[in-house]
Amino acid sequence: MTLESCVTTEKKPLLSVEEAQQRIYDAILPLTESEMLPLKQAFGRVLAETVFAPIDLPSARNAAMDGYAFSSESFATTLTNVGTSWAGKPFEGELNAGECVRIFTGAVLPENTDSVVMQEHVTVNGSQIEFPTNVKLKKNVREIGEDVSVGDALCSVNKILTAGDLGLLAAAGIENVSIIRQLKIVYFSTGDELVPLEASLTRGKIYDSNRYSLHGLLQNPCYQVTDGGVIIDDKDELKRTLMQAASEFDVIITTGGASVGDADYVKTVLEECGDVNFWKIAMKPGKPLAFGRIGACYFFGLPGNPVAVTTTFDIIVKSALVRLVGAIAQKPWLLSAVCTTPLKKSRGRQDYQRGILQQTEIGEFKVASTGHQGSHILSTANLANCYIILPSDCTDVEIGETVTVVLPSI
Ligand code: AMP
Ligand code: MG
Repeated sequence: MTLESCVTTEKKPLLSVEEAQQRIYDAILPLTESEMLPLKQAFGRVLAETVFAPIDLPSARNAAMDGYAFSSESFATTLTNVGTSWAGKPFEGELNAGECVRIFTGAVLPENTDSVVMQEHVTVNGSQIEFPTNVKLKKNVREIGEDVSVGDALCSVNKILTAGDLGLLAAAGIENVSIIRQLKIVYFSTGDELVPLEASLTRGKIYDSNRYSLHGLLQNPCYQVTDGGVIIDDKDELKRTLMQAASEFDVIITTGGASVGDADYVKTVLEECGDVNFWKIAMKPGKPLAFGRIGACYFFGLPGNPVAVTTTFDIIVKSALVRLVGAIAQKPWLLSAVCTTPLKKSRGRQDYQRGILQQTEIGEFKVASTGHQGSHILSTANLANCYIILPSDCTDVEIGETVTVVLPSI
């Protein structure tokens, strides 16, 4: 499914969302510096080097079932049990023809055995074990290296380590791994109207909520995140703060002040102390979005409206940060869903309307609007589990029309 590129009604065409994403992708140089970390600390982090298996897995032939082990070459329907092979305590003796051993799951198979029959299929008469005549030979045995052979790649460079990866690496005895260092991110709110939660509200002031949203959005073991606080609407103060931050961090994220109001200095300051790659995109919410660099530091100037912050983060910033930490960003899955509520839409920008996606019993997707779509309306935005993507030249959507949705968390 392709989304049409931007057709705008504005005088100067705005960059489409796809073009903005591509420009960020092209501009970003992923981190390469690494650190050695103990396995548990590497969870959720990005591998800096491929890890190869130092041993075979399994490293010894072992039983897949609790039962009796014997050699297929000397199988008879009655065998004498001559000992036990426990998980962790192998049977060390030799088996002669007509003999078997009791064996448990994970226990090493005695030297000259190659078959295990599960205990439910035998009859035990003291040391005499009776097997069914139709027993399948050479079964229930886990062979050396059938999972992984020495030298196989266990986990490849650039992989984000999952719980399963930690298990696999641990199974191969890997204690420490080489991991891309954390991305140092600082975020700021901008605006004279913002007060901290501890303060009481006076006329015209609002609580600074964007830094709380960003705090949540930036929870990721790959990031070392600093809350830089609030920058007042003063150009020199903004410039001084951003220049200082650019010397200490890999990424600066600001919210607010990115538009064209008299107190919006973000774009001007970025021009003066760095490079503006773009600062407006054909996205709703989220038109005033600046991207650029200050020295070696990447800069994302997000809009001030709270819903525009979370939306631009999900759609634009998140994949950029994933690329920066050296991981391979997965393209989010787009789904087709039948719209169950009418949607208001004007031409010119690609909308990311907040929606509630459900799957019917027969597997069809249905989506409803969360309600009021204002970029300051946090309460309904937070009911959403998806974005409904409406291309820039699309207009109102009627009930029953099929729309494209994207899940923010992928
Ligand atoms: P701006 O882009 O600075 O013009 O801000 C757009 C809107 O978002 C205004 O209504 C601001 O008051 C609001 N806003 C900006 N920053 C924040 C913030 N940190 N928390 C809550 N609302 C904000
Ligand atoms: Mg402002």
